[in-house]
Amino acid sequence: MHKLIFASHNAHKTKEIAAIFNGLFQIASLHDIGFFEEIIESGDTLEENAAIKANAVFGVTQLDCFADDTGLMVDALDGKPGVYTARYAGPERDANLNNQKLLFELQNHTNRTASFVTIIHLIFNGKSYQFKGELKGYIAQEAKGTEGFGYDPIFVPLGSDRTLAQMSLLEKNQLSHRAKAFQQMLQFFKEELT
Ligand code: IMP
Repeated sequence: MHKLIFASHNAHKTKEIAAIFNGLFQIASLHDIGFFEEIIESGDTLEENAAIKANAVFGVTQLDCFADDTGLMVDALDGKPGVYTARYAGPERDANLNNQKLLFELQNHTNRTASFVTIIHLIFNGKSYQFKGELKGYIAQEAKGTEGFGYDPIFVPLGSDRTLAQMSLLEKNQLSHRAKAFQQMLQFFKEELT
């Protein structure tokens, strides 16, 4: 089976994505192919950072590969944390501290709308493609739920009355930004490979 490199060390995400591409591609993480060079995400946008990661891996391996980058855009904060989503409260990338900081920043705001955006940058047969997935919602008044990761306890998808952390993984995967972006890439391959 054709191999597609995922420009990430995250074993959990690699497993999730491998399930989506089951039968079509073998998905290998950077860990799987022994790529341990540091990639500096120095871009100002999710699109740039996804491209930086995919290009870095392609530059070394010349293999078909893709990278993803996700950000949380809060309308009342002019789109912040955006590219700084992972390290919003500091370099420790602590989810709890990030959530506390965001709740604090929003305490005097009535507009709590926000969206998660995932960008995938794919390099396939030497050509580049980008796919986008978005989940609109709002930031809750307080953290609720124990599932998921990151900002899940404080993010309520539009049309729901529960946070992402109060949903099962299956339920989250029906609507998440990342799932939507990967479904788009899957659709691309279905058209490209038939
Ligand atoms: P990454 O680009 O996938 O590493 O995501 C960057 C950061 O966005 C993560 O460190 C999390 O803080 C946050 N994030 C990404 N996806 C999700 C999600 O599905 N739920 C909650 N937070 C997320």
